[in-house]
Amino acid sequence: METIPVNSIEFEYVYVANQRCACGGYYTAVRQELRRGPSGPVDRLIARCEGCGDERAFEFDIRSFFGQWEKYGRFRRTDERFRDAIAHLRAGRLAEAEAALRQVVDAEEGEPAFAWGHYHLGCVLLLEGHAEEARFYLERAAAIQPLEPDIHEALARALEATGEEEAALGHRRESAALKEQFPAE
Ligand SMILES: [Zn+2]
Repeated sequence: METIPVNSIEFEYVYVANQRCACGGYYTAVRQELRRGPSGPVDRLIARCEGCGDERAFEFDIRSFFGQWEKYGRFRRTDERFRDAIAHLRAGRLAEAEAALRQVVDAEEGEPAFAWGHYHLGCVLLLEGHAEEARFYLERAAAIQPLEPDIHEALARALEATGEEEAALGHRRESAALKEQFPAE
């Protein structure tokens, strides 16, 4: 199983809560186990789908902070920056939103597996006319949370803006299919 890079324990739970089961339901963590992997400590969360009850395990690479107490609790700052970014975005302050979102998904300071951070950064970059870079972040968001129609929709807009009509159409179809598949959304 591929481990997910994280910079805080709190984010592991955020990550799991944002993952979708094939049935469309979201996951809740039910058990946690600390393991020693070949390259360092791994935190394993076992989660249950709120829709169908299926269990799935997620493994997180916690080497960046494990045992370094001064680094614990860093997610609070990332979460604050994310909220600030959304407030800037709602007020139309794109440059401020962009700066905050870059910190949110920063590999060292933020959470590099925060799909909604990548998603909003991609959307802001698209509004600013930076379609190529927007596409990069939206592709990352889609890789982390492949079952979210909004992410595929935004990625389709970025691909359109970079002249990749065919790939854009693929993601538009994927978005429509997911919306139909999970009508509760
Ligand atoms: Zn399910």
